[in-house]
Amino acid sequence: MRDFDLLLPESLSEAIDLLANHKDKSAVLAGGTDLLVALKFNYAVDNVISLALVPGLDELTYDPAEGLTIGAKVTIAQILKFPAVREHYPALWQAAKIFTTPQLRNTATVLGNILRASPAGDCSLALYALGGTLTLQSTSGQRQVNLDDFWISYGVTARRDDELAVSLTVPAPGAGQKSAFRRMTRTTEDLAKINAAVCLQMDGGKCTGARITMGCVGPTLIRLPKVEKMLEGADITPDLLQGISQAVASEITPIDDIRSSADYRLKVAGILVKRVINLALNEGNTP
Ligand SMILES: Cc1cc2nc3c(=O)[nH]c(=O)nc-3n(C[C@H](O)[C@H](O)[C@H](O)COP(=O)(O)OP(=O)(O)OC[C@H]3O[C@@H](n4cnc5c(N)ncnc54)[C@H](O)[C@@H]3O)c2cc1C
Repeated sequence: MRDFDLLLPESLSEAIDLLANHKDKSAVLAGGTDLLVALKFNYAVDNVISLALVPGLDELTYDPAEGLTIGAKVTIAQILKFPAVREHYPALWQAAKIFTTPQLRNTATVLGNILRASPAGDCSLALYALGGTLTLQSTSGQRQVNLDDFWISYGVTARRDDELAVSLTVPAPGAGQKSAFRRMTRTTEDLAKINAAVCLQMDGGKCTGARITMGCVGPTLIRLPKVEKMLEGADITPDLLQGISQAVASEITPIDDIRSSADYRLKVAGILVKRVINLALNEGNTP
């Protein structure tokens, strides 16, 4: 690993000042499960700004009107143990449940997963389907960025170098909201070969709104607008699901990589989306 200075701010304002002073010569360290791996390979920064001693970034709250708030230091394990996530956001709970090993779940943060901007991120994908807004803070103040506008290209986000992501809010679910997440992997310790999440607004058997997201099928996590349109205003019948399953391949651009092949991903993507929709409908909010 290359040498770097480990900076340990003890307040949010100190962390923000350090980011302002060091900008592109620094990286934020939350759990470090991505960052330390990157620093061992091709990534070089002069300063690593750890959040370890920064207070006030641990908020994990649910309010029926405001929704879910996740602070920058909230780990995947905390998400898994938080009853409101299991009850109201099953897609996120399911993504946290399959997230690799207990050691990693106790260390890795949800916001780190989002900031890493991996096209395979499990919790990021579930949150993309559920919808969410990041709060970014710098010395010039705070701004909000919707996840729909956050991932720009592989590893690149809308975050500026001097900004710290302090929290994410996820809207409270409406009455008929159903969500689910699934992934295909080689082993549970491995990243996904392909993953999918859905969030459906249901009025009886009719779908009134849909957000369908997929990972490992492009340079960023993606939504499937054509499939979302097929669902919106429709009764979800076996015929519709068959049509959706066939349409998915036209919306994705997978590549061959160490985890899978483009051909495999193209073949299974439609089946995975159909399964995740069925899972959301059949298990609803009881994962
Ligand atoms: C063995 C192993 C297994 C893994 N399995 C999975 C898996 O099953 N599913 C999955 O999705 N991922 C997996 N990962 C990837 C990783 O664990 C996750 O992406 C994790 O959520 C990253 O969180 P972290 O807190 O460790 O982030 P860090 O490594 O601390 O940071 C990740 C990136 O985000 C930036 N960052 C972090 N927090 C902030 C902030 N508040 N503001 C600004 N920038 C910030 C960092 O500078 C860095 O660029 C795995 C990694 C390993 C090593």
